Amino acid sequence: MNKGNQLYEGKAKKVFETENPEYLIVSYKDDATAFNGLKKGTIAGKGVINNQMSNRLMQLLEKNGVPTHFVEELNERETVVKRVKIVPLEVIIRNISAGSFAKHYGVEEGIVFPEPTIEFSYKNDELGDPLLNAYHAQALGLVTKEETETIKKYAFKVNEVLKAFWKECGVTLVDFKIEFGRLADGTIILADEISPDTCRLWDSETGKKLDKDRFRRDLGGVEDAYQEIMGRLTAHL
Ligand code: C5P
Repeated sequence: MNKGNQLYEGKAKKVFETENPEYLIVSYKDDATAFNGLKKGTIAGKGVINNQMSNRLMQLLEKNGVPTHFVEELNERETVVKRVKIVPLEVIIRNISAGSFAKHYGVEEGIVFPEPTIEFSYKNDELGDPLLNAYHAQALGLVTKEETETIKKYAFKVNEVLKAFWKECGVTLVDFKIEFGRLADGTIILADEISPDTCRLWDSETGKKLDKDRFRRDLGGVEDAYQEIMGRLTAHL
């Protein structure tokens, strides 16, 4: 499969057409941004880790009944994926308080919830990705009621599968963001990526952060944390 025209360049990835109209190639970069692009930097080797981690986790999810865009890993930074129209919603699942939840509701990080939570934000950089609920998303015509139900069902399944997997690796899945897309026939599938850029992953024993919060919060050891979490994954998958 060969790369054709570049369709899009995002903060962490580039997307190319291929000779097959149903497939695209995603190329992962080492660039990192936070706070809606206000903080910029590079995490050496991140593109390779995010590509490989996302692909392995998506294959695990497929095996567990969640359809994904993954087709084939081409090389360490590039993957063939199914072409979708992205649903402009960030779907966030939380098992433990952290980040914007802790800030929003004035609680400390680390409170274990009795049940996971789900929230949506509207993918819109100009508006700063505002939070919205399912009724708002439907009112704005972003999703139908049926699609909302499908997305919720898949999102909680992703949480169940990944939480159990990371537990085996001695890692606590605190929260994560996923995105969905529609195939040409309207079928909803999991798209985008699942990586330390999009998940909070804490060492289960020490609580050490093994994710992008090290970059966002200037905690140091960013590259080492990405290597460490990838090592844990490859030892178990
Ligand atoms: O910042 P917040 O606490 O809302 O983030 C929740 C989860 O969603 C975190 O795992 C974070 O990495 C992820 N996230 C993301 N992209 C965003 C916002 C949040 O991957 N634009």
